[in-house]
Amino acid sequence: MRLLRSAAAAAAAILFAGCASTPPATEGEAPVAPPPGEAEAAAEPAPAAPAPAPEEAPAPAPAPPPAPKGKPWRFSYTAGSQLAKADGVLLYLGRAAAFDRKTRKAGPSELDRKSTVAPLLQARNKPLVSGRPLRVCLDPGHGGQDAGARSADGRTLEKTIALDIAQRVARLLRKDGVEVFFTRPDDRTFLPLPDRPALARAKKADLFVSVHLNANASASARGVETYVVPARGMESTSFDASRGASDESRQWWPGNGNDWGNVQLGFCIQRRLVAASGLPDRGLRRARFVVVREARVPAALVECGFLTNPRDLALLRSENGREKIARGIYEGIFDFAYGTMEPGLPAHVPGPPVVVRAAPASAAAPAAPAPPGEPAAPAPREMLEFVPSAVAPWTPPPPAAPASVPGEDPATAAARAAALRAAGLLD
Ligand SMILES: [Zn+2]
Repeated sequence: MRLLRSAAAAAAAILFAGCASTPPATEGEAPVAPPPGEAEAAAEPAPAAPAPAPEEAPAPAPAPPPAPKGKPWRFSYTAGSQLAKADGVLLYLGRAAAFDRKTRKAGPSELDRKSTVAPLLQARNKPLVSGRPLRVCLDPGHGGQDAGARSADGRTLEKTIALDIAQRVARLLRKDGVEVFFTRPDDRTFLPLPDRPALARAKKADLFVSVHLNANASASARGVETYVVPARGMESTSFDASRGASDESRQWWPGNGNDWGNVQLGFCIQRRLVAASGLPDRGLRRARFVVVREARVPAALVECGFLTNPRDLALLRSENGREKIARGIYEGIFDFAYGTMEPGLPAHVPGPPVVVRAAPASAAAPAAPAPPGEPAAPAPREMLEFVPSAVAPWTPPPPAAPASVPGEDPATAAARAAALRAAGLLD
């Protein structure tokens, strides 16, 4: 029992360690309600319309078989927790899920229904662009004097690994006919942060992906996480009321006009990256990093593992490992760009976009290996480890208690926040 408890605590510590961990938002922290009449969805792709039925030869046959139904989206929530799962992928909600007495289940807040769940349920099933190549801006983090994070022995630098991974992603994308450009071509160059999304705008990119590596004072922290800008009305995952008035608590959080595209792109990347790399899933998170906040196109920042964890580092130092990570990012970009976002990790069909467009998602679905025991909906382990009581109403932690996050080492969190701020990645 003791062993189990400590294992759970260790797992929680891993998930919380270092970055972006935050207690669930309290009511008092909630920003003002969005202005009435906001039509957030208007700027976004229209809800997935049923695909036009293929023309059928008139035949007096019996009723045609029903179109193959895709796998349903599976969401799981825990009352009082901001952690949820969508199609098996961990994600951070903008508000803690609440227990609904009617349904006897935990469910998302209205904000998350609109800004986290709806974008996935109504994901585009058509290519993002047609009649021209997709244009992707890849942003290898740091560069030049700014080496970013480094391994404990100082031999492996974030800027080097990030560039290598980005170059691998580019090779895979270019094979598909995608136009790719970088915010920095080599490790000697450094482009100031605001100039990176600006470059993407100037080059008329369709989407923007920033590649980073993580670090933590605790060597046990490991895994991959993907960040997108908090949606309109939503604070960062790393929101911490104890930081006082200078914190985001006094601000109105506007999103950046791509709320739906951001969460779709981030989700697609995180899902594929976890599957391809085999690294632990630290979730789709929200943060107002300059590079994703200032992008005028769907944008995500990927943390591809911890240079400070021996197992992550071993993978990152191996060519094969970096190729796996790059493949995950590439497939995530692909899912988002070509509308194969449906649940159940649809079989990936590489090739020029025109080939992909010709193959409807429903045709690709049967090729996907059926996950064993899929209907059984396995228990969301991370969530259980996180939240001691799945149904007990959540009570806010005592205010100004820096150690209030379960499993969180405050010194670790503070060190990382300071490092992020020094790197200009946090406001
Ligand atoms: Zn970085």
